[in-house]
This record gives sequence, structure tokens and C-alpha cells, in this order.
Amino acid sequence: MARDRAKQVAYSKRYLDEHPEQKKKARAQTAAWAKKNRPRMNEYARAYWRKMRKAAIDAYGGVCRCCGEGTYEFLAIDHINGGGNKHHRSLRGRNHLIRLLRQQDYPPGYQVLCHNCNMARGFYGRCPHEGAVSHGRDRRCARVPALRTP
Ligand SMILES: [Zn+2]
Ligand SMILES: [Zn+2]
Repeated sequence: MARDRAKQVAYSKRYLDEHPEQKKKARAQTAAWAKKNRPRMNEYARAYWRKMRKAAIDAYGGVCRCCGEGTYEFLAIDHINGGGNKHHRSLRGRNHLIRLLRQQDYPPGYQVLCHNCNMARGFYGRCPHEGAVSHGRDRRCARVPALRTP
């Protein structure tokens, strides 16, 4: 039985070697399968990272620490004492951070900020919300008057 199988494998290997067009076809079939299934694989990956992001954001309060924005799509994890270039981390880097935080059981030193507040801090060094009013952590952006640019 085992010898038959070995013989069979050897035969098909020789067959493919002798028929390169068949080998090419087999290879193309595998590539086509991967291509067809890539969107599904990507979808799985996206769903996974969405879940991870949500878990991290929830662990750090679930709302923007500055304006209280609570829509996940607007939120990101921010280093409390992070430098400016940290705002420009690649997507891959951000995913890595989210995984790292989970592995470390969400350590202190990070906060949730919405993209508006985050970008304002990145570009201007601080968010216009800061100092405008002594707003509570749970205020919505719309209720916080923006500080006039100096
Ligand atoms: Zn905000
Ligand atoms: Zn803000």
C-alpha cells in the first residue's frame, strides 16, 4: 500500500515534470484560489483588528479624553507623553501597539483621543479644546466652544 502510494506520488511528479503546461495549470489554480479567497482573508483580519481596537479603546475609557467623543470610528489610542511623530505611525504600527497593549493588560500611560483632538495636538501642539473652558471629560465636541487661534 505504502509502496503503491510512493509509486503514485513519483508517477504524478514525473508526469508534471514531463508536462510543464499541466504544472503551470496546477500552480495557476492554487494562485487563483488564493486570489479568490484573499478578500475573505482580509475581511477576517479586518474584523479581528476592529475587535482588538474596540477592546483597547474600551479599556482606556471608550471616549475621547479631551472632548468626550464616543464614536469608535473617530477614536484612537494615544501615548500620554508621546512625541509628535508618534501620531504618524503607520497602520501596521498602530495594530502592533494595540496588540502590545493587550499583551501588557492595558498598562497606564495611554489615553483615548478622537482624531480631531489628536491631529490638533499633532499639528499645533495642543487641542483648541484645552483651556477654552474647564470642560468635563464627558463633554461632546459640539458643546465645547473652540479656542480662537492666537
Ligand atoms: Zn476629541
Ligand atoms: Zn480636544
